[in-house]
Amino acid sequence: MPRSVPIELLSFRRTFALLMVLVAVPSAGLTGLGVVAILNERAAVEKRLALVWQDRLDTLATRFRQALEASTVTRTDEGLRVIAPSGLLLSGAGFRLSRDVLQSPDTDLVAALTPLRSQLAFLPERPSFLSVPGPTGPVLIVALRAPDGVLGAELTHAGLEQLLGQSGEDLLGKGERVRFGLTPVQPSRPGLVGKFIGGVPGARNALEATPLAERPLPAPLQEFQLRAMPEAGDPVAFASTRNRLVYAGLLGAFYATLVVGVVYTARALYLQARLSRLKTDFVSLVSHELRTPLTSIRMFIETLALGRVKDPEQTQAVLELLQKETERLSAMIERVLDWARLESGRQRYRTERLTARQILDASLDAFRAQRLDSQVQLTCRVQEVLPELEGDREALAGALLNLLHNAYKYSGAEKRIELRADARNGGVDIEVEDHGVGIAKRDRKRVFDRFYRVDNLLTRQTEGSGLGLSISKRIIEAHGGKLTVKSELGKGSTFTIHLPAAKEARA
Ligand code: ADP
Repeated sequence: MPRSVPIELLSFRRTFALLMVLVAVPSAGLTGLGVVAILNERAAVEKRLALVWQDRLDTLATRFRQALEASTVTRTDEGLRVIAPSGLLLSGAGFRLSRDVLQSPDTDLVAALTPLRSQLAFLPERPSFLSVPGPTGPVLIVALRAPDGVLGAELTHAGLEQLLGQSGEDLLGKGERVRFGLTPVQPSRPGLVGKFIGGVPGARNALEATPLAERPLPAPLQEFQLRAMPEAGDPVAFASTRNRLVYAGLLGAFYATLVVGVVYTARALYLQARLSRLKTDFVSLVSHELRTPLTSIRMFIETLALGRVKDPEQTQAVLELLQKETERLSAMIERVLDWARLESGRQRYRTERLTARQILDASLDAFRAQRLDSQVQLTCRVQEVLPELEGDREALAGALLNLLHNAYKYSGAEKRIELRADARNGGVDIEVEDHGVGIAKRDRKRVFDRFYRVDNLLTRQTEGSGLGLSISKRIIEAHGGKLTVKSELGKGSTFTIHLPAAKEARA
């Protein structure tokens, strides 16, 4: 037969499952979203940076053109000489074309210009800057038509790059290490595999660094393009790693909070479910405990009413039994009321100066009044000099009495109890030691919980409500003290009440 599961635990499981679904679904969605964002993040950073740099390259292209046009072009024996407004020499090898003969010290330049000889003849008389394709790559030249032929020069790569550097200096932000360059326009872009490898930080450095942005120059310089090249590291990888770390950190914090929240809620739910189960158990336990003396009382009253007992001695015995049962009944009800008072915070303490001896005497008197001491070997030892205490004598004696009762109840056949009071830790320790069944480690903390009873044979055979220790603990803590237990299963337990000394007594 399947074990029945208590209704409260069932509903706890159901509520917990609901909580998990309500938490897990949106957080899985959120994580998915975060992962997609992270995957697309590099592309987004690249796009953003490209936009910024594209803008800067537009400005640079205009400035570059203006700088070329504002340069000073002078005639030399070889051809032309170009000096930028900043004084920078831009031209390299010159050339001269007269009567269809090209002359230049640079053979590459001659090779590049030879196919264009006929077109060069149509150049205007003022200097023109243009790009021409060549066998070893395009070249940028300056040329003009003069009466004795066409004069010109090649613009050097180094000179042009320097000019770009000067023109674009103020376009760089603080700390940005980017170089502007002039490169031939490449018709082919990196293929899919190249792009893929380029996406992996690190691998990108192993290949050629990828420009942040490129921009072709307008005609007649169309063979060339401007480029913004990162000089140190990969700024995209840097920005994207930083963003990823922030994402990861936020996601981590989100999950940590979620886990703490779920654990905390689950714990609260579980405690609530357990408490409600304990309360149900308590109600059935109390009803059962009340029914037993009530049944006996009813039987005794019936016996007396029907006049079945004639003998006055027997009548006396029945009356005594009646009294004992009613006392048990009232003690039980008293305990429930005590607990209710403590629980609702209605308990008021009458604080007075008192000694440990007075507390011990009051509880021993009550213990004796219940005629329990005759079956017990009880020893009491009180240290002679003890600090004075402060508190409600009746309440403290009641707390101690609960411990004495437990020592009695959970002692089996050998009922040996030692009661001690010693000065310790700036106050008084009152110890109740028994040699009974003891308490297992896992139950040691829980015995102080309301309604908690250790599940063993002796407890099942002993009447009780699981409230005694929780009442005692509350009373002692309300007096600024502590209730602790040391116990060994099968050997016995020692419960210790620690009470602080009264204020002046401490000083
Ligand atoms: P009650 O005695 O009415 O059940 P208590 O709150 O006084 O309730 O005690 C809680 C449980 O702790 C008891 O049911 C018992 O199992 C265990 N216990 C308390 N005192 C002792 C003791 N001296 N030795 C062994 N077990 C104890």
